[in-house]
Amino acid sequence: MKDQRDRFFHSVTIALNDIQLQTALDRGTTRGVNARIAAMGETTDAAALRHQARLARERALNRLPDLLEQLERNVIANGGHVLWARDAAELNAIVLDLCRKHDVRRVTKGKSMVTEESGLNHALEAQGIEINESDLGEYIIQLAGETPSHIVFPMLHKTKEATAQLLHEKLGMPMTDRPEEMTRFVRRVMRQKYLEADMGISGVNFAIAETGTIATVENEGNNRLSTSAPRVYVAVMGIEKVIATWEDYAVLVQLLARSATGQRLSVYNNLISGPRRPDEPDGPEVFYLVIMDNGRSGILGTAYAESLACIRCGACLNACPVYQNIGGHAYGWVYPGPIGSIVSPLLLGPTNAPRLPYASSLCGACQAACPVEINIPDMLLMLRRDLVQAGDPTLGWRVGMRVWRQAMLSPTLYRAGGWLAALVTQMLAGGDGKIESLPPPLNAWTESRDFPPFARESFRERLKRRRRERHESHPA
Ligand code: SF4
Repeated sequence: MKDQRDRFFHSVTIALNDIQLQTALDRGTTRGVNARIAAMGETTDAAALRHQARLARERALNRLPDLLEQLERNVIANGGHVLWARDAAELNAIVLDLCRKHDVRRVTKGKSMVTEESGLNHALEAQGIEINESDLGEYIIQLAGETPSHIVFPMLHKTKEATAQLLHEKLGMPMTDRPEEMTRFVRRVMRQKYLEADMGISGVNFAIAETGTIATVENEGNNRLSTSAPRVYVAVMGIEKVIATWEDYAVLVQLLARSATGQRLSVYNNLISGPRRPDEPDGPEVFYLVIMDNGRSGILGTAYAESLACIRCGACLNACPVYQNIGGHAYGWVYPGPIGSIVSPLLLGPTNAPRLPYASSLCGACQAACPVEINIPDMLLMLRRDLVQAGDPTLGWRVGMRVWRQAMLSPTLYRAGGWLAALVTQMLAGGDGKIESLPPPLNAWTESRDFPPFARESFRERLKRRRRERHESHPA
């Protein structure tokens, strides 16, 4: 576990010192936050809409087994096939089997967090199957040999300058700093790959149980091409993606777009109900829906069940002051940001992500941004409690928390502690009133942050003094 802790601190230190990353994060998250606020501001009653979305997700999670069965029945009735994967390894094995069954050599894949979770690309490549990401950002990340750093904007950690350099080196693109030129260039390369692919794979934004329909949202048309041009289409989803009705879809899809990219609706809203029918000009010959659990059913029915309501919009990432500074890769797994700090320990086991529940200032910006009102701060606190109960904290931490508890319970100790802290920090402060460095072991804090000295006069003392002064100047 110490190893995991050290790895997190190491990643954070690298991220904080990476100027290119800091520039990209600043641009990307600021744009994301502003776009969401503007788009949500256009709705007549954003709070009511969010509440409706929350209820839609609750309705689904409360009836998850029934809805999944209904979804399966309707997908089969539409001419599709449904396959169940207990975990990531099973998901990869299923897709590999399908590749063999349909003699697939080339695959094109739309955005899918579930396949990031399972490492599907590596699993297929290891068996000699070529797989190409079809989302522009994901494709660039694949070219760079990296992993996505954001749920919605996978290359948020890259500046346009770094992207241009990469495309120049890998694909011979003439250097440009204009994103539209880069997009045009990459599109030509990618289009050929869609046409050559035998199988298209995509993630699922929502699966509508009442008709067995798969909904994906996107802005590039890549998913539509990936799911309709190849002869085999495989949609991959986690069990929590099912929703009950089209009414629920109508609420969720507009909130997803507004929260994720600040659009009223995404440019492409694809709705797929089975393979190509005899009277249809295009579409896949066969359609499979693979539904993966990978630990999600273990979360259902626990105090963390609401984390399954997440619609993967990424708004909490953009809003989080920690994510804004360290980016996605520092979190160490597929799901970064505030929701990742909950989902990763739950899916990987808390000892495999022991620092993530602490990677939050608990400011509540994530909860305020979340379109389905997920109470992220409370779950982070619960995870911290679980880690403490599991014996995670060091001796120093345990002793520190005991002392803190005693001080908080005793007004005398609290006052004495405040007086002592003011005395010591005022002594440590330089002529400019700032503390350059705290003594060990507290110096880790001042390596990358300020530590203002405690005020000489406490809030209570100040309040008393001001009341006294007011009373003296205006006696009753
Ligand atoms: S927790 Fe909420 S804000 Fe964060 S990605 Fe999920 S739905 Fe979006």
